[in-house]
Amino acid sequence: MKKDMKVAIMEGIGKIGYVSREIPSPKDDEVLIKIQYVGVCGSDLHYYETGRIGDYIVQPPFVLGHEASGIVTKLGKDVDSLKLGDRVALEPGITCGKCEFCTTGRYNLCPDVVFFATPPVDGVFCEYVSHPASLCFKLPDNVSSMNGALIEPLAVGFHAADQGGAKAGQKAVIFGAGCIGLMTLLALKSYGLTNITVVDILPNRLEQATKMGATHVVNSLEKDYKEQFNKITNNKGFDIAFETAGTEITTRLSIDVLKKGSHLVCVGYSKTGEMNLPMSLVLDKELTINTVFRYRHVYPKAIEAVASEIINPSDVVTNIFEFDDIQNAMDKSVEDKANIVKSVIKISE
Ligand SMILES: [Zn+2]
Ligand SMILES: [Zn+2]
Repeated sequence: MKKDMKVAIMEGIGKIGYVSREIPSPKDDEVLIKIQYVGVCGSDLHYYETGRIGDYIVQPPFVLGHEASGIVTKLGKDVDSLKLGDRVALEPGITCGKCEFCTTGRYNLCPDVVFFATPPVDGVFCEYVSHPASLCFKLPDNVSSMNGALIEPLAVGFHAADQGGAKAGQKAVIFGAGCIGLMTLLALKSYGLTNITVVDILPNRLEQATKMGATHVVNSLEKDYKEQFNKITNNKGFDIAFETAGTEITTRLSIDVLKKGSHLVCVGYSKTGEMNLPMSLVLDKELTINTVFRYRHVYPKAIEAVASEIINPSDVVTNIFEFDDIQNAMDKSVEDKANIVKSVIKISE
């Protein structure tokens, strides 16, 4: 096996270059993964465009990418859960295992988590990575490696559904038909919900939502959008709402269209981090507001849902780019947010 690998690095804002680095060797509890596909996430684009997200600041050279699948090519000496040649989805966060959050099962809240492509930790726009075997989930034969990379954003959708206690029989509404909104749609579908409305202002995204199984779509730029909500819910309001756009307008709208006693799940981060909300109405309706930070314990069921062929996360992918073309992938995804819902980088076969 070769000694060096190619790594795509962010050299500065809006600039990708390539360097050669030594292929890492797996520790005793790790496996070496030959990366196949990596999804381009909104957070990657944000780092690329602005060099930071909140207090996380990129110090170049920095490696982006955290939604990955690949093939097991080397085993650490303590690993018996996987074998050479297994295709896996990589859960990107390595947690401490000891803090109060880890020991109570809420490991996504671990303050010491080491997460791909969150400065200063490098991501996986590269040919190989060593990763704990416990965070590499084997893909069944009928789950493609592209779907393997998309288990990560799908996991966010499942966690959102779990946080809000979504269940069959409910009328759900999702604000925002970007990748996470559509992944939430798939999670709800696999939980048996059969009345799911997706709201956006871009017609092509609403079209994609319909293709992926939304039972109703509403363009909130249309004059009669409130009447459309009333018609869908027989004037009763929705049982659960997911806000994935991260805007004040859509969060206010979510509060407005919910039934009393229901759940609002906030998934999208707002640009400024602050919002003005009608809290009296939230109290009058006795709404429960749930929030989502990444996910926990979701990969096995997300993979199972894809293997069942009830849902196909690859339906979200609008653009596939080669490994040598990451600069173009990032630039296009930033410039053409209206048409590019999801880009994926193909690193190897
Ligand atoms: Zn992501
Ligand atoms: Zn911890």
